[in-house]
Amino acid sequence: MLGLMQRHELLISAILEHAARHHGDTEIVTRRADGSSVRTNYIALAVRARKLASVLRRLGVNIGDRVGTLAMNSDRHLELYYAISGSGAVCNTINPRLSHDDIAYIADHAQDGLIFCDPAFVPIVAAIAPRLEALRAVVVLSDAAAMPKADLPPGVALHCYETLMDAAAAIDAWPRLDENTASALCYTSGTTGRPKGVLYSHRSSVLSAMASNFADVLALRATDRVAVVVPMFHVNAWGLPYIAPMAGAALLMPGPKLDPASLLSLLNEERATIAVGVPTIWLNLINHLRDSGQKMETLKRIIVGGAAMPRALIEAYNQLGVWVNHAWGMTESSPVVTLNAPKVSCLKLEGEAQLNRRASQGRVVFGVDLCVQDDTGCEVPWDGHSPGNMMFRGHWIASGYYRTPQDIGDGNWFPTGDVGVFDADGFITLTDRTKDLIKSGGEWISSIAIENIAVAHPEVAEAAAIAVPHEKWGERPLLIVVPLQGCMPAPENLREFCRGKMPDWSIPDRVIVVDSIPHGATGKILKSELRRIYASAR
Ligand code: ADP
Repeated sequence: MLGLMQRHELLISAILEHAARHHGDTEIVTRRADGSSVRTNYIALAVRARKLASVLRRLGVNIGDRVGTLAMNSDRHLELYYAISGSGAVCNTINPRLSHDDIAYIADHAQDGLIFCDPAFVPIVAAIAPRLEALRAVVVLSDAAAMPKADLPPGVALHCYETLMDAAAAIDAWPRLDENTASALCYTSGTTGRPKGVLYSHRSSVLSAMASNFADVLALRATDRVAVVVPMFHVNAWGLPYIAPMAGAALLMPGPKLDPASLLSLLNEERATIAVGVPTIWLNLINHLRDSGQKMETLKRIIVGGAAMPRALIEAYNQLGVWVNHAWGMTESSPVVTLNAPKVSCLKLEGEAQLNRRASQGRVVFGVDLCVQDDTGCEVPWDGHSPGNMMFRGHWIASGYYRTPQDIGDGNWFPTGDVGVFDADGFITLTDRTKDLIKSGGEWISSIAIENIAVAHPEVAEAAAIAVPHEKWGERPLLIVVPLQGCMPAPENLREFCRGKMPDWSIPDRVIVVDSIPHGATGKILKSELRRIYASAR
């Protein structure tokens, strides 16, 4: 017997319609490139998204068509999220910081017929356009006065976004799509090879956003003001463009300026209560606070993920009264799978044990599941010291990659390529990516564990541990550190600092102090590049 309940497809357009109807005057603030702030709200966003849907129709976009975006976080990018997906087309956000070659690869692989881009990225689009067979038009996210010139191949039209919007009439209603319709296409950031396309559906996006609002996950409230520092081209800004309107929370969009001074001014002037981004952002911000003596006036919480957040940095923010929630996920998981929020057992922990628990990547959110397996596929014990391959499955986990033969299928465990340890309370600590682990004399050494200790040194700003080849041990750890401004820690002093905090055999043989460490397109340390540079270091 079936239940007698209404059935509504889970659609992204419903999120915006809810926000417009029940939180219509809640603000969306965007910082433009010139530093000015543009203020809008959910009612205005909903009207403009419906206008944009009619622009898309006029430009020939049909259900299932891929539409590319190359843009920073802004109100216009939000309009695109809702209008493209709401119309049944697929929003293919592309990271403008990738190499031209990777951007061209993605736009070509996705077969984007249109690309919407910020004025600053027009030269990128012009450079790659001759390689994009499917491309028919480029729309610049600008008004007519600020339209740049672009040298596009014959057959590719150039449009001004606001001119198209001025001429459009809003569609009456969003189409009633099947909830399994594809909504967005994000490519992995390419830190582990050619980008691969993850094709989200309306259903997976809505379920993931709903679960993200659980009390022990992001727990956004209608009174929150959320600074979305994670870019909208990095796993749909971790779902924030859906999660915040669902809760009726205000959105603060930093635009192109992500330097710590600009960020602090956004957080303070716009009274942010929660901010979301990768560890590098929070590292730069805390150094800026120390150097400038400025304060954070309203921020209560930071949600951090994308790379391991060092324990020392979590503690530093705690001392400022800002609670840090460490989360883990991937492009393939929409992305949130785990988030660190206390259980009853955590309340009893003290000192080191409490800090270590707080620094772990957290526990699993309902709707997805995670297991840790050994190389034979058996689950390893949850004992806090047995590492294994992390595998996940669930409602917002990819079942394969777009236009790629590899198929994981429904209900099967998806291998993440990460290695982790569950403790007895179900908190997972990520020890490494499989390819970043250091194998010395048959023992695995966690690069993240070394980095965590190194950044706790009072003179260290940032650290990366990598494997370098060694004749006797196979590999040995090399530690590369960036000192805090005005400091010059001695390598021997850094090695000494590690003593007693990790087994002696995992202490790096060599420490190199450098001015900066290379970061990839989403702000993560580029270990592949470090391995290339320091391959012969001992
Ligand atoms: P890419 O795989 O190209 O870097 P993603 O943005 O999908 O693109 O990255 C996901 C990976 O980032 C994870 O597999 C994991 O290695 C790393 N990661 C994400 N969150 C964390 C975290 N909190 N701690 C450590 N690593 C993390």
